[in-house]
Amino acid sequence: MSLESRYKPFLSSRVEARKFKQFWNNDVPSHLNPHPHPINLGGGLPHEGLFPIESMHLNVLDRPFEYRDYRFRSSKLHVEEHDGSVAPGPGPAATNERELVSQKFADGSMVDIWRYEPENPNNAPIFSGFQYSETRGMPQLVEFCRNFISYVNPPAYPDWDLTFADGTADSLFKIFETLAESGVAVLVEEFTFTPTVFNIEATGATAIPIKVDVCADPQGQGINVEFLTDLLENWSQSKYAHLSKPRLLYTIPTGQNPTGMTLSLHKRKQIYALAEKHDFIIVEDDPYGYLRFPYYDPENPTFNPYEAHQYTIDKYVSEVLAKSFLTIDTSGRVLRCETFSKVFFPGLRLSFIVGNKYLISKILEFAEVSTRAPSGVSQIVVNNVIQKWAPNFETPQKAWLSWVMKVAGQYNHRRNVLFQALNATEAFKQGLFTLIPITSGMFACLEIKFEKFPNIKNCAEGMQALGDKLIEEGVNVVQGINMAVCTKFSLERSYFLRVTFAYASNDKQLREAAKRLGKSVQRLLAEYK
Ligand code: PLP
Ligand code: PMP
Repeated sequence: MSLESRYKPFLSSRVEARKFKQFWNNDVPSHLNPHPHPINLGGGLPHEGLFPIESMHLNVLDRPFEYRDYRFRSSKLHVEEHDGSVAPGPGPAATNERELVSQKFADGSMVDIWRYEPENPNNAPIFSGFQYSETRGMPQLVEFCRNFISYVNPPAYPDWDLTFADGTADSLFKIFETLAESGVAVLVEEFTFTPTVFNIEATGATAIPIKVDVCADPQGQGINVEFLTDLLENWSQSKYAHLSKPRLLYTIPTGQNPTGMTLSLHKRKQIYALAEKHDFIIVEDDPYGYLRFPYYDPENPTFNPYEAHQYTIDKYVSEVLAKSFLTIDTSGRVLRCETFSKVFFPGLRLSFIVGNKYLISKILEFAEVSTRAPSGVSQIVVNNVIQKWAPNFETPQKAWLSWVMKVAGQYNHRRNVLFQALNATEAFKQGLFTLIPITSGMFACLEIKFEKFPNIKNCAEGMQALGDKLIEEGVNVVQGINMAVCTKFSLERSYFLRVTFAYASNDKQLREAAKRLGKSVQRLLAEYK
């Protein structure tokens, strides 16, 4: 069966209603002999001579955090000593710092982006990056990402494709615009990145929570497959029987937000088999997949294989990363969302979607009438920085992964520091909370053990009381219940806090946060003893 006949029934009616035809590319009738050098008085592009920027020069770091913090007088490289909470304004010393920075980068870590690049076709020049460009993405970067997917997560079928978007939030918007509408059931992990749920529901579709196992067992983590199987097999007896069977599953398979869980390959295969049997599309949202690390080991709390140089790039790709659903996708039913947000920076607003050619073409058609191409500035920054690193590596993909692994090493370290500090708290030693082991991402799930609080009658109230203590002690976390798709469905599994080690300034802050967390939990015990 062709991709079109297989996947057309999945399209929302809005796709059918949306007609798009380029008006600016005239088809040349075959009997004409067109002029070889026509002058363009057609397409409404401003000439690049009108752009106010001559060139861009980016000072690129070798490693995360190796920058000078010139908010601070006489700073060395980014320092542990300050806690990031005070930022004196720039003064004369700060100016000197900036000069020092400029000198350092003039030595060779500068990426120059020029107006024209006659010599190096791999570099994207200003005249193309600042101009309107292809909606799918700039050809160099599209090619880079195609080779990247072929190397890291090759789909198990031939006719796949990809298109760029403005961050995964936008990718998801475009996907649900294309595939969801009133009457459509979308399966979602019961705790999830809730903006996606609002997105799904705004199309008129219904988000249906699926039980998630939050546990230490690497084979057990994530979507509860028995629950999912039972729901699908007995759909007509379920409370969702008024809807047709699910058309979509939205999953964050690795370092799940908010639970931190990672689906084993075995579970991925089971879920894929269910998708084949019950005919639904899997939307895989994987912003955290590259941030992989081993389980925290209390016997060896500082273990960091990145810092210990135990991972080669090939090993990272073949053994360390969790395999995308794409790699087991034989029928083209997986849409994978990749984003540069966590591994380059979120302000780029740059992401891409990998999937079968037909669905990608439909998503692209929506982009043609909505956002069009993602920011050209973002695209040339990413492209040219990778090209700067590329000559030292076998492929540009490996050059990129070398940076990604440095970022992952930082997350490994931060996870170690936070877990060690939380394990050292009295509250942990008394068993008042547990930390669910994680192997990816930036979130950990801190479960409150209410059986240790004999006088708490209502755990939800207990969580609220804990929230008050956390505010007083001075640590911001996210309550699990705030990320539930359906409060009633998930209440009993919601007695956890989502803590992230991504944003603290340094180890000292992470340790201080752990103390404050521990103290808050102990104060809760004192109140309910
Ligand atoms: N999806 C998930 C699961 C997220 O946690 C986030 C942000 O953290 C996003 C999507 C948004 O990512 P982006 O910055 O690529 O839009
Ligand atoms: N703001 C925006 C625009 C985001 O996309 C995100 C996360 N992707 C956040 C804030 C932070 O959300 P979270 O705490 O789930 O990472």
